[in-house]
Amino acid sequence: MSLIPTPTSKFMRVKCNECENEMIIFNHAKMIVKCQGKGCDEVIATPAGGKAEIHAEILEILN
Ligand SMILES: [Zn+2]
Repeated sequence: MSLIPTPTSKFMRVKCNECENEMIIFNHAKMIVKCQGKGCDEVIATPAGGKAEIHAEILEILN
């Protein structure tokens, strides 16, 4: 897992480590983000002081 130290709000495309489902998430998530993959309940992001701590593979940062 890695903490992304970006100062601005961004969306990013991530891939679940568990089921490889790809999804777009917000890097300032204020709630726990779970994987949307079928039958997968992997936690993708958790709130960490205004930013989100990402627990998935980051494929792309979107502007
Ligand atoms: Zn998943």
